[in-house]
Amino acid sequence: MPLSLPLLSRREFSLAAAFAASLGLSSKLSIVPASAQTAAASAGTDFYTYKVGAIEVTALYDGIWQKPHDPAFIKNATVEDTKAALAKAGLTTDYMPIPLTVVVLKIGDRYVMVDSGSGGGQWQPTAGRLATAMKAAGLDPAKISAILVSHFHPDHIFGLLEKGTNAPVFPNAEIVVSATEYKWWMEPGRVEKLPEGRKALGQRIQAAFPGWKNFRLVEGEKEVAPGVMLVNAPGHTPGHSAFLVTSGNKQLMVSNDTAYVPALLAPHPDWQGAYDQDGPLAIESRRKLLDRVIADKMMICGAHFPFPGTGSFAKDGNAYAFTTSAA
Ligand SMILES: [Zn+2]
Repeated sequence: MPLSLPLLSRREFSLAAAFAASLGLSSKLSIVPASAQTAAASAGTDFYTYKVGAIEVTALYDGIWQKPHDPAFIKNATVEDTKAALAKAGLTTDYMPIPLTVVVLKIGDRYVMVDSGSGGGQWQPTAGRLATAMKAAGLDPAKISAILVSHFHPDHIFGLLEKGTNAPVFPNAEIVVSATEYKWWMEPGRVEKLPEGRKALGQRIQAAFPGWKNFRLVEGEKEVAPGVMLVNAPGHTPGHSAFLVTSGNKQLMVSNDTAYVPALLAPHPDWQGAYDQDGPLAIESRRKLLDRVIADKMMICGAHFPFPGTGSFAKDGNAYAFTTSAA
């Protein structure tokens, strides 16, 4: 499946090659500038497959929220600051681009999905391509045996819920989530304590999930699928989790929302998003996770990274530099 991506300049190419070599990654690795964010998607390519050792990873593009600029979006930065960060990463400044990518891991003959996408437009009307992307990638939803859920925000769980009825979309898949996350949202009186904008979400979670028999709640950090560890990364939500995929000497950190939109948070890791429930804790988790990814020379992907959602981080003073890549 051809990816249509901008050509690299000679300098970018040599940087990319040096970087790939430093990570010990395949010589086929191509690193593309962040401006390629939607190139693959606009070319009609909604999935991208790469390997982490023996595990096959398929990135599935659900769509993009073209969020109007909002001064409340980052608590400690202005709209001008966020526009400058987008421009520096080669992205549009017309709106805040928040793409959404879901990954499916093929581990042996098992298919394990991380998060569920946003449910065919239930989050944003411009993000509802997941089912089509799965089909294009030759993935059968009925064969997904487990879904690892990072947290209970709409763009990560609405794909579990049938629109209108809340019936389970994957009744035969085990749904694995941090016990902390599940219990926080289920606590009696939780909905009343949520901010106005989150009440409907809390009500939906409390109405739907208690009747489901297929949840597996995970205490602490444990192996949740062969070669996949749940990693606690709280702050975005109380039980927000990343998932570390290991096969042979290769590792991929599926970071979900820990680094959110890297065009903003790589150069400004201390920015606090309105979407982070506990800003200081989210910053602590972000730095801890990114430092680990860099120290251990891992690949990293994120739900809101430029499609196909995979890349690498490097230290840049007290901040980070993000390079999007397709292995
Ligand atoms: Zn998200």
